[in-house]
Amino acid sequence: MVSFGSQVDFSVPHIKIRDLNKYYDGQNQQTHALKNINLDIPQGKIFGIIGKSGAGKSSLIRTLNGLESISEGSIHIHQQNLAELSHAELIQTRQKIGMIFQHFNLMSAKTVWENVALPLKIAHVNKAEIETRVNEALTLVGLDSKANNYPAQLSGGQKQRVGIARALVHHPEILLCDEATSALDPESTSVVLSLLKKINRELGITIVLITHEMQVIREICDQVVVIEHGEIVESGQVWSVFSQPQQKITQELLNLEQLDLPFQVNRELHNDSTHSIVKLRYETDPKHSPDLTQVFQAFDHSVHLYQSHIDSIQGHLIGTLIVGTAQTDLDIQHLQEKLKHHIAQIEVLGYARPTH
Ligand code: ADP
Repeated sequence: MVSFGSQVDFSVPHIKIRDLNKYYDGQNQQTHALKNINLDIPQGKIFGIIGKSGAGKSSLIRTLNGLESISEGSIHIHQQNLAELSHAELIQTRQKIGMIFQHFNLMSAKTVWENVALPLKIAHVNKAEIETRVNEALTLVGLDSKANNYPAQLSGGQKQRVGIARALVHHPEILLCDEATSALDPESTSVVLSLLKKINRELGITIVLITHEMQVIREICDQVVVIEHGEIVESGQVWSVFSQPQQKITQELLNLEQLDLPFQVNRELHNDSTHSIVKLRYETDPKHSPDLTQVFQAFDHSVHLYQSHIDSIQGHLIGTLIVGTAQTDLDIQHLQEKLKHHIAQIEVLGYARPTH
């Protein structure tokens, strides 16, 4: 098997970003696009950066391979400060960082094979080596049979696979993905994400991806940071950030705010309220999913289930139940104590008068 990644030393981060600031000077004003970013990206992992449009994701990923200059702070790759590299060293380091783009950036007048060969031609690699590497990359992405086709003859998913093959020909240690699946339909998205996962696992390449889609993070990332207005507002293992999102922006991105019940829930207790609407959240490994009989028995009154959602992320089950119980003076602390071995978090969302 080909191995593109270098020797793994897990004790030091592959990419270390310290106090990074990025300003853009406009005609009338300056935009502070990245604010004191500090990040350690481990080797061999898939690292996701998520945020809404304008949050600073592109600025951040583009500073990693020098497509964008940094205003303040430092970026170390394998303990080498990018700012201290000579021109020749910088070129060499850049070759170790592949990148794929939302709109693929393929040359329409060149065949698939020629597109993939281009970075090697530019780097004056000899013909025999180009031949070997292009064929190897096309096999890896499953497109050997399309070598002589032109981009216009390919689907979006296939174009992105050409983009990935092109990014791999220099045998990179890092692959940057800029909204790589945002222009694709769900099926192609799934194929491209599986391919990225395969590349990461089989070749040991560190992948850094930016996206505005939680689905992408959920499917392939090990760790995630959430970025808002140029700042990192939340970070951690994907399952942990998903199970207990701290920030409103993360909850919004997770769509947790959507409560679609067949009756109105009021934050305040109204005269005609009869029920408390309660959110129960748990996280466990799949073998220890909570016994719901015990959970519901902990309530003093009958319990009705109105909504439930269970995610399986990186081997963890994360469950959310929205229930109503016929009581408006719930002692949450007491309930929490009774359920401490089953339920991680209990919250009264509001009060209602369900009609059933
Ligand atoms: P995202 O990728 O999350 O959509 P960007 O990094 O593209 O965010 O943008 C972050 C902020 O920086 C935005 O306010 C954007 O308008 C601004 N910005 C990005 N690129 C430039 C540029 N070349 N010149 C001026 N402002 C820019």
